[in-house]
Amino acid sequence: MNASIEEIREQALSELQAAKDADAVQTLSVAYLGRKGRVTAFLRNISSLPAEQRPAAGKRANEVKKELEAAFSDALEKLTASGEDDRAAIDVSLPGRPSPVGSLHPITRITRTIARIFERMGFGIAEGPEVEADYYNFEALNIPPNHPARDMQDTFYVSDNVVLRTHTSPIQVRYMEAHQPPVRIIAPGKVYRCDSDLTHTPMFHQVEGLLVDEQVCFGDLKGILTAFVHQIFDPDIRVRFRPSFFPFTEPSAEVDIQCVICRGTGCKVCSDTGWLEVLGCGMVHPAVFENVGYDTSRYSGFAFGMGVERIAMLKYGINDIRMFFENDIRFLRQF
Ligand SMILES: [Zn+2]
Repeated sequence: MNASIEEIREQALSELQAAKDADAVQTLSVAYLGRKGRVTAFLRNISSLPAEQRPAAGKRANEVKKELEAAFSDALEKLTASGEDDRAAIDVSLPGRPSPVGSLHPITRITRTIARIFERMGFGIAEGPEVEADYYNFEALNIPPNHPARDMQDTFYVSDNVVLRTHTSPIQVRYMEAHQPPVRIIAPGKVYRCDSDLTHTPMFHQVEGLLVDEQVCFGDLKGILTAFVHQIFDPDIRVRFRPSFFPFTEPSAEVDIQCVICRGTGCKVCSDTGWLEVLGCGMVHPAVFENVGYDTSRYSGFAFGMGVERIAMLKYGINDIRMFFENDIRFLRQF
């Protein structure tokens, strides 16, 4: 026991200054304050000092012990806090921190997939206004003023003669007014109806299609739409055309596919019918052609329309349409 307590203190602090990491500080702490540490040894030896020196030496030794304890624990805290970052910066084996990358909304994805399929079959893309004149939304499409589709329950009226379009079909009329046949377009876009439940929202998306040329027949319609359904769902899926009614097509049909959930054996999704409706279609009504000035003795054509949300729900197995618009990031990240 040769060194004075002041010497021990000086040495401990200077060694602590040099300590580069938490392990070194731990080792120092043991070397000075541990059971066999130098400060501990000094305290134990006080009893061997002359009686008159003992109180002062004991007091000073305890002060030094407290000071060193505080210094070691401070140093340890600093090194562990900053140490992690230093190590991450140089440890090349650690995985990087990826910046969050956005994903396309499922509606955008499906719309693009639909567009790509029709583009491959020679269709171009047309657009039109969402706030639409009554004439384009209804009258030009052979929907007379007393037709139930105009009911206030279904249509958002902006004024007596202006509506939020209830379907993408007015784009057909606008396109035909501006172009002579042959016409081969699809028209994706937002549409609006006063309706809201598990499978309906006040705003949703449609893709409309129109093909006009000489000698277009119902067989062309069936061929194009069957090819489309096979490409978007499954090449083996069964398709059926069921007679229906739309004011702007004659004859009209609904296209059903074999239920994607039960494969036709019957389940809740298809109401035990084994079939799911995916599209409406038909040969363009001559009255619509007359409204845009096309020669009905020379041209014929077909039109079709589908709900993008419906296609997305069937393709991805989503059972609540509202999920598309709640923007829950956990839902959207899955696409
Ligand atoms: Zn089913």
